[in-house]
Amino acid sequence: MIDLVSSANASLVRITAEYENLTQELEQALRDKQDLMGLLERKNDELNRLAATDPLTGLANRRRFTEVINETLAAAEAQGQPMSMVMIDLDHFKNVNDTYGHQCGDDVLVEASRRIALGFRSDDFTGRLGGEEFAVILANTDAERAGIAAERCRALIAASPIRCKDGSVVEITGSFGGATWLPGHGVGSSDELIARADTEMYNSKETGRNRVTWERQLAAAK
Ligand code: GH3
Ligand code: MG
Ligand code: MG
Repeated sequence: MIDLVSSANASLVRITAEYENLTQELEQALRDKQDLMGLLERKNDELNRLAATDPLTGLANRRRFTEVINETLAAAEAQGQPMSMVMIDLDHFKNVNDTYGHQCGDDVLVEASRRIALGFRSDDFTGRLGGEEFAVILANTDAERAGIAAERCRALIAASPIRCKDGSVVEITGSFGGATWLPGHGVGSSDELIARADTEMYNSKETGRNRVTWERQLAAAK
């Protein structure tokens, strides 16, 4: 009888030890799983950031810019606030590549994007739409205030030549076009707003470059 009890006790001790081991293994597996989930989340965030960013300038790419302009337009409609956007195309940029080389062209793009960010307010949203074309979204901003910011940025880009890493010194200017969505002017469409700013940017090209052109009909209606 005593043998039976001591044998049962021994089994109980062994089972308890095995159970504790299993519990520890399970806890470790849970911790590993949590670590992996954290890693996956961080990789996902990084992937999302990369998918939204232009690698050369670090600005938002066209995909992200389109998302933000749609969000800004929806917020402007909901709040009954104006919003503006500015299209910027660097002038005669092909000449920069042809004269100084593609690498220097890239340096100029990086410095131009820095000047664009400096020219506007920090809460305005800047994207590189492609090539030497940039665009800025100004939430809660009417044509007059956005026009002043665009002019400040134009002057900043033209103010001093850009020095490339190879020592070349490059004069650069940009042509700007602006458009504003006003509450009460129908449902806003980002495609339409972008097209309007683009038209004005081409007007700047046609009338001499290195200038800001804003929509005449809105300016006249003010
Ligand atoms: P305009 O004043 O009429 O805008 O003339 P432009 O020469 O700026 O315009 P065009 O469209 O003829 O040329 C744009 C040039 O931009 C051609 C292309 O090689 C260059 N480009 C586009 N993307 C990049 C880039 O990422 N790096 C460099 N270095 N050049 C680029
Ligand atoms: Mg262009
Ligand atoms: Mg150009």
